[in-house]
Amino acid sequence: MRLKPKAMMVTKPERSRLANKALRVNLRYTMPPSPTKYDCTQCGACCRSFPIFASEADAMREPAIRQEARALPEYLQAEGKAYQLFPLPFHARCPYLKEDELCRIYESRPSVCRRFEAGSEQCIEARRRQGIGEAD
Ligand code: SF4
Ligand code: SF4
Repeated sequence: MRLKPKAMMVTKPERSRLANKALRVNLRYTMPPSPTKYDCTQCGACCRSFPIFASEADAMREPAIRQEARALPEYLQAEGKAYQLFPLPFHARCPYLKEDELCRIYESRPSVCRRFEAGSEQCIEARRRQGIGEAD
């Protein structure tokens, strides 16, 4: 019988520690985002603070994306990124963000906007960048 070299042998406690570590790593990627701390105040900060992209599926759902967003050249495209909504030249905000801070294409907005959570770290960061404090 060929024995494993000692350095490669994993003891039971070590196996358990590694399994727990793998579980923790796995959970980090599968756990739902932390619960929201507050409801959306419709401040619009998230629509003018980070680059915003839409997929081809988003553009099929909402034709205005093809008309007003920037189609990315093929070499810049990635999963979920076929069009750039923000930043765009001469725009200080997403072109679909109206003066009243509401989304003009809300019902058919891109998936990335649907996933964005009020009260998330990104929400808080967007508000910070726009000089808006956390909501109550
Ligand atoms: S930054 Fe947060 S609070 Fe403001 S509109 Fe976006 S999700 Fe709502
Ligand atoms: S599409 Fe609508 S929700 Fe998404 S960034 Fe633009 S204005 Fe905001």
